[in-house]
Amino acid sequence: MEAVNHYFKGAYEESRKEFRHLLSLIQSKWPGAKLYTKFIGEEEDNTIDVLYAEADESNRQVLFMTSGEHGIEGYAGAAVIRLFVEEWIEDMDPSETGICLVHAINPWGMRNFRRVTENNVDLNRNYFLNPSAIPRDINSMYEKECHIFLPERPVESIEKEKTSLYESLSKGMMKEGYKGIKQAKGMGQFQFERGVYFGGKEEEPSVTYMKSWQETLLNRFDRIVHMDWHTALGPSNEVTMVMSKENKKHEEELMEWYGLNNIQVFSPEKVKGDSTNYFYELKKEKFPSKHLTSALFEFGTFGTSRQAELREFITIILENQLYWEGTKNHESREWIRGEFMNMFYPQDRNWKESVLMEARKAIQSVLRAEGILPR
Ligand SMILES: [Zn+2]
Repeated sequence: MEAVNHYFKGAYEESRKEFRHLLSLIQSKWPGAKLYTKFIGEEEDNTIDVLYAEADESNRQVLFMTSGEHGIEGYAGAAVIRLFVEEWIEDMDPSETGICLVHAINPWGMRNFRRVTENNVDLNRNYFLNPSAIPRDINSMYEKECHIFLPERPVESIEKEKTSLYESLSKGMMKEGYKGIKQAKGMGQFQFERGVYFGGKEEEPSVTYMKSWQETLLNRFDRIVHMDWHTALGPSNEVTMVMSKENKKHEEELMEWYGLNNIQVFSPEKVKGDSTNYFYELKKEKFPSKHLTSALFEFGTFGTSRQAELREFITIILENQLYWEGTKNHESREWIRGEFMNMFYPQDRNWKESVLMEARKAIQSVLRAEGILPR
């Protein structure tokens, strides 16, 4: 049995402190490694922390790992980064490989156990090459059924809320309500600031900062391998690699190449403002000769059934309503918070152990295939 508490922390500041301490381990391999800290947002002490080192001799390649793009998901991400540093840097070759590790792209969300930023923005819908091209009205279904997604009153008794949401979503399974939220999940929505899956009206400070790192890495290195850690999507207790179509490989090819069972390829037409898509577009436009592999890695929680999807939507909608409108009902608050944790940061030992196990599998197969670790 693993000592899961060694990896998984209970609060943002504790997780950040542990991350900063990794600097000395990294310096034992890359003496020039540095910690960069960037304050984000209104509250002074929310920071994005970056551990960065270039290669000793030539910058042939870099491993880039990011966590907490969706705040609360950063606890698992930070656990995996720690696991990686402790178990794998020993096998890397610092003469031609650099390293760039990022803690909490959305620090406010991680601190407050929310997925979105303090501006209610889903950061993975906020990356655009040209910010004036942010789509304003791409989600007509959402607009039509916005009474379901927009909080208008405090949360009442949880049973009542669940029943009514379940009915409006499942009765309309093939109709507008369900379609609206499903579409919003992929496309984001850019109209309703208090609604779920909001992609923002302008670029978030976290995105501006991360874009500058993406550009730095493309500038400084010939090959960039990026693993972005997330939770919730895919089969329960398994890792799923999520790759942009920009990568040009099909699912079967990727499965064979990386030796992973769960691989999803998504197209930029169906997903707007995604960070890895942006990374590929930037490479194509300004650094066409460089090699980039950038993918999300998701640790599944609820699973992939229709029931699981419905549970996910109900959880997301109620958590958003609770945040904006609150509740007088103690039981409702506890239930929503508990269910939100179950979705993005489950507290059960089995899940945490499976994250460590699946992360080892993903790290080993991807980094070997990419030549960051010896084959
Ligand atoms: Zn995520």
